[in-house]
Amino acid sequence: MKTINTQQSSLQQPFQVFQVSLDWLSVDKGGRKHIPHTGIYFCTTELLQDEDIASWSIVLKLSQQTPHEAWLWFLFDAQQQVDLGDAFDLMEGARCVGRALVYDILDSTSLSFWYDTCTHCQGQGRLQLCMAERQQRAFLCCDTCYFAYWLSDQIPPEPLNALKTSHHLANLREVQYYRLAEYALNTTIEK
Ligand SMILES: [Zn+2]
Repeated sequence: MKTINTQQSSLQQPFQVFQVSLDWLSVDKGGRKHIPHTGIYFCTTELLQDEDIASWSIVLKLSQQTPHEAWLWFLFDAQQQVDLGDAFDLMEGARCVGRALVYDILDSTSLSFWYDTCTHCQGQGRLQLCMAERQQRAFLCCDTCYFAYWLSDQIPPEPLNALKTSHHLANLREVQYYRLAEYALNTTIEK
């Protein structure tokens, strides 16, 4: 049986991310009454591997802008073979609710996420979603004035170097694991 490894180190391992276009089935074809619009969506898909059909848990981060775009990755990375143009059936139990078509394949380290523009520098910078490594807590940090904002506390914003901890830009697995989708509204892609 597979165990979920939630170690911080495994969350930080690079993994493949697939940019997909989504085709949701209509209700009369077995689709959902309400298609997911924002945030994180979990389902499964079936892949042919070694002449066997295997079921895999997948995660989608839906686009803020359209319900027909998402980032997709495997909950458990097992070096699945995925190519451009491949399609995933989106399964909820035995029911197929849609299809995802892969049109780009990226490494997780080439994606970062930002929430809004920064009020401290009058909107010149973007608030990037970061993880403080010692505390294992997320915060937003301006890429221009380097002011840091904790997400859930009453702590006022402070200069990044006052945090006294190493940090990195949050990746999609961390967005999923720490439930940060509402702060990961915008994506920056560096290829
Ligand atoms: Zn700023």
